[in-house]
Amino acid sequence: MELYGRDVFIVHFGELWLRGRNRGEYISALNRNLREATGDKCLIINLRDRLAVVTDDKDKTRESLGHLFGISKFELARVSKPSLQAIRKTAEEMLLGKTGRLRIDAHRSYKELPFDSMDVVRCIAESIEGTGVTPSPRDHSMELSVSITKDHAFLSLERFKGLGGLPVGTSGKSVILLSGGIDSPVAAWYAMKRGAEPIYIHLHAYSDNDEAIASKISDITDILSSYYPHFKAYYLPSHFFQLAALKAGRHELVMLKRFMIMLAEKIANAESAPLIFTGESIGQVASQTPSNLLAEGYGVKLPIIRPLSGMDKEEIISVAKRIGTYEHSIIPYKDVCSINSKNPHTRTSVDTIKKLSAEMGLSRIASRTLKAAKVVER
Ligand code: ATP
Ligand code: MG
Repeated sequence: MELYGRDVFIVHFGELWLRGRNRGEYISALNRNLREATGDKCLIINLRDRLAVVTDDKDKTRESLGHLFGISKFELARVSKPSLQAIRKTAEEMLLGKTGRLRIDAHRSYKELPFDSMDVVRCIAESIEGTGVTPSPRDHSMELSVSITKDHAFLSLERFKGLGGLPVGTSGKSVILLSGGIDSPVAAWYAMKRGAEPIYIHLHAYSDNDEAIASKISDITDILSSYYPHFKAYYLPSHFFQLAALKAGRHELVMLKRFMIMLAEKIANAESAPLIFTGESIGQVASQTPSNLLAEGYGVKLPIIRPLSGMDKEEIISVAKRIGTYEHSIIPYKDVCSINSKNPHTRTSVDTIKKLSAEMGLSRIASRTLKAAKVVER
């Protein structure tokens, strides 16, 4: 397809992994995710170190690109031939009728052309002399960036920051313990940001799975799916655990966490997912003291990733607001954790965990709970 004269979105990949061995795999994953996010209406063209997206609906495409992991930045650019004359003409067209102070930035990734980036800046500056636009490298209100490759020049006045991270799917699948709270949806977002395809597990306090599926948990998975449309969600009843938990006393909350991690490990193995993510932050609440974290995860072979472990509640809330999950998270919800013991033990030992796990028959309860699961898949 002829690109010259067209306005297209130019998508820049994350810089770091670009140099890695898996470059091809990342770019195909980004292509695939981009195609799904933008629908049939867009045409995606591979241009060596970037992608061009040709679209009829700029607003929708801009929104989709802003929700995709694996993009460092994107811009709306007009494409011209990589010649001084064509670049100059395109810049004149783009600036026609505009007023203000303009910074011009030019960059050549192909060095064999008979002119350099300073020639481009000079040529555009000359061509706008006497118009309402004044070249001004520092104090400027507009910025025209000109990026020149072997076959194209891309001129843009509008740039947008991407989400960064890796395209979803490039890190395989991950199991994510999802509650109705503020933190775990944020942890899920970070898991996707590192390329993980989400498999959610939610342990609910309803008597029927369908009630849990109709709850705000689905609203949260819907919001998260605006960053990647596919997920699996396991809805699991907590009543088998609740009955056995009478034996746990003040250790009930830690045992509940342990139980969730056991469920997560079983599901992760069945789904060939190598990682488990949770929304814990060190020391934030009773079940998240260092000794309880150790006890809860005792014997678990898969890595438990806690992307929020070093974040304050304030920081987590600000991410939750930005990604759109916060307003659903604060809607009152009967979470299994909140109906457990009011004065939980903050230093449960591994020995206690082992003893209580055996007394409660935790492994058997986990199998029964998994048999009673309902899975939603998109
Ligand atoms: P959140 O805001 O994510 O609920 P929290 O601050 O309430 O976290 P905890 O209640 O200790 O902290 O939960 C810690 C983690 O355990 C959660 O972030 C989540 O990953 C997991 N978790 C809690 N409740 C559930 C649940 N009902 N189903 C599945 N996972 C859960
Ligand atoms: Mg919670």
